Amino acid sequence: MISKVEGFIMSEVPYGDTSKIINVLTKEHGLIGIICKGSKSLKSKNRATTLRFTYAIFNIYYKENKLSTLIDAEIIDNLINIKNDIVLISYLNYLTELTNQVIKQGDEKEIYAIFINAILLIDKGFNPMVVTNIVEVKYLEYLGVFINLDTCSKCGSNKDIVTISFNDGGLICKKCYQNEEIVDLKIVRILRNYLYVDLEKISKIDIDNNLVKKINLFLDLYYEQYTGLYLQSKKFLKNMTD
Ligand SMILES: [Zn+2]
Repeated sequence: MISKVEGFIMSEVPYGDTSKIINVLTKEHGLIGIICKGSKSLKSKNRATTLRFTYAIFNIYYKENKLSTLIDAEIIDNLINIKNDIVLISYLNYLTELTNQVIKQGDEKEIYAIFINAILLIDKGFNPMVVTNIVEVKYLEYLGVFINLDTCSKCGSNKDIVTISFNDGGLICKKCYQNEEIVDLKIVRILRNYLYVDLEKISKIDIDNNLVKKINLFLDLYYEQYTGLYLQSKKFLKNMTD
């Protein structure tokens, strides 16, 4: 069956001398493998459109749960601003590696939308740290380590919130507070905005840079302690942005 799919090439592996298999996160079918016959050859029309980090429409012979076969592809967006900036490439690298992990455990359609919209925002020049943190907050649910940002995680009240606790996975109210570390409530409020914001509708990001860094640090620690993910690209990104 010939099928038109929208997707992003997460990785590629050589296959024989002139062919390769690309792993594409698609809007329609989640993560699929597509064999690109002859695409490594200099004369192939598919040479430039089957590279890692290509965002395109792919015409394929689709086979469910098997390798599909590429007919041709048409680029949707070259992501030229990201690809010309080593720091932004590091963000893209990390988001791709993280999404590859998350896709195994969650709703593929929702994850696709979060991932693609984040990349497009970064390419348009939005603060890449903020955009990446928004993705990280939204992915927590799929990683099974959701933080409750609406009510006290001990009693369920939404009144007199005083801090947020890693151990309790959420907010703590005045009544339940024991000796948890006090986290600035501005951070809590912004984390909540990150969780609920629709990436597709963002037209402006206006957060004090100091707070942006604090939130990034908060999420770094939370990810380190609770997700069990150790991503090489994250270490690299940290070195680039510290
Ligand atoms: Zn409480």
